[in-house]
Amino acid sequence: MNGFMLLTITTTHQPATDLGFLLHKHPDRLQSFPLSFGQAHVFYPSADEDSCTAALLLDIDAVGLVRTGRGQEAVTDQYVNDRPYTVSSFMSVALAQVFGTALAGRCTARPELALMPIALQATLAVLPCDGGASLIRRLFQPLGYTMSIEGTLLDDHFPEWGNSPYYTVTLTATLPLHQLLSHLYVLLPVLDNEKHYYIGEDEIAKLLRHGAGWLHAHPDRDLITWRYLKRSRPLAEAAMARLVLEGEDDVPDSPDSKTQAHPARTDSLSTERLNRVVEEFRNYGAKRVLDLGCGEGRLLQLLVQDSTFHEIVGLDVSPAALKRAEKRLHLDRLPSSHAGRLRLLHGSLTYRDRRLQGYDAAAIVEVLEHLDRSRLASFERVVFEFTRPPLVIVTTPNVEYNPRFVGLADGQLRNPDHRFEWTRNEFSAWAHDVSLSFGYQVRIEGVGPTDPLVGSPTQMGVFMRNVS
Ligand code: SAH
Repeated sequence: MNGFMLLTITTTHQPATDLGFLLHKHPDRLQSFPLSFGQAHVFYPSADEDSCTAALLLDIDAVGLVRTGRGQEAVTDQYVNDRPYTVSSFMSVALAQVFGTALAGRCTARPELALMPIALQATLAVLPCDGGASLIRRLFQPLGYTMSIEGTLLDDHFPEWGNSPYYTVTLTATLPLHQLLSHLYVLLPVLDNEKHYYIGEDEIAKLLRHGAGWLHAHPDRDLITWRYLKRSRPLAEAAMARLVLEGEDDVPDSPDSKTQAHPARTDSLSTERLNRVVEEFRNYGAKRVLDLGCGEGRLLQLLVQDSTFHEIVGLDVSPAALKRAEKRLHLDRLPSSHAGRLRLLHGSLTYRDRRLQGYDAAAIVEVLEHLDRSRLASFERVVFEFTRPPLVIVTTPNVEYNPRFVGLADGQLRNPDHRFEWTRNEFSAWAHDVSLSFGYQVRIEGVGPTDPLVGSPTQMGVFMRNVS
């Protein structure tokens, strides 16, 4: 008995055929990939400049699974979804294997496109969900999708038997492709609450990696974690603890941290970082300021309370982060003295952006390490050549300090979405290079407690533009 599941992804971004670059799969070819549980086929039902659709068809060989011992249930079980591995979990595995580069947000041919929000529509046919259409809506709606959900009757001739647990779901949103793929990667197995699916510690890492940037703020975060980890209480609790911290700051915490010299809680570190930025802005006499990669708007909140700052702009690539910033800042009901002083912009720091020109100062707080190394050169030009404010402040983790944090394994970065973390020498070399190339002077300082051996947890570069 075989099962199948079909995912199609359509874009109307122009030229729509860029989808082929984004997915690293040529629109003219049918490509097949052998997977441990069957075959994945990628093809394009349509591909022209205006609209392009890619399809990923999973053809699941349940008999093969049983034969190779991967199926643990009796061979007589009739449905694929009764097996230890479920159709939805297979779709996640296939997404990671067939579209792994796109899932990671990388694209060699069109690097900027990989991070750019584009008009996307995903349709899933034969999507199993034990929680009905309402669960599908609950999970995807907070992520900004509009959707249509069609149920199927168990039997057309007997409508009174009710619906089958299979749905055809269409999700529409404007977002970077890797975010859509990450949402599907995490949420498809969550919809299908198969209890026999075997999971281990590495599933926590996958959940955190693919949930980075959105899961911690999802209203059903705990439900997602609980079901993704297939109701394993110890795993779910470990994951939830780390997600709560992601919402607050970068560093994982551990409840038994009493013996360590430095507290792992870093609320205070984050606050200190932001206060230092405000202080630098004030000392410089900056009036019109930018917060680039503003996230949920914590720095903006401090800036808006200080009347020295006449014009404040926050920019971020993530619409979800901007929504949270909007909420935090109560943009809709700011007193009239504040309204107009503060604006939020959606954009990417790897694109030249005229809206950012003419400001006195820019802060880029804990953003650098989220960029692919291959995008650093564009970032440098956007900030130091095109935007070019007289004062630029950049902060980033000091990786040498990581062993002082409780709860970080050896070599583990502070956040699953970090592409790199630098030593003090690496940051200093980069900062001096940038200054030399673009005509700035830089001063480097530590933020947070200073350890005699490894320095401070955060490093901050204060770049001043040369007088020309
Ligand atoms: N500065 C904030 C948020 C840091 S988290 C703070 O200190 O609290 C990193 C932020 O950078 C995220 O909100 C992420 O969406 C944003 N980001 C990542 N890549 C970006 C890019 N290319 N352009 C703009 N923002 C980006």
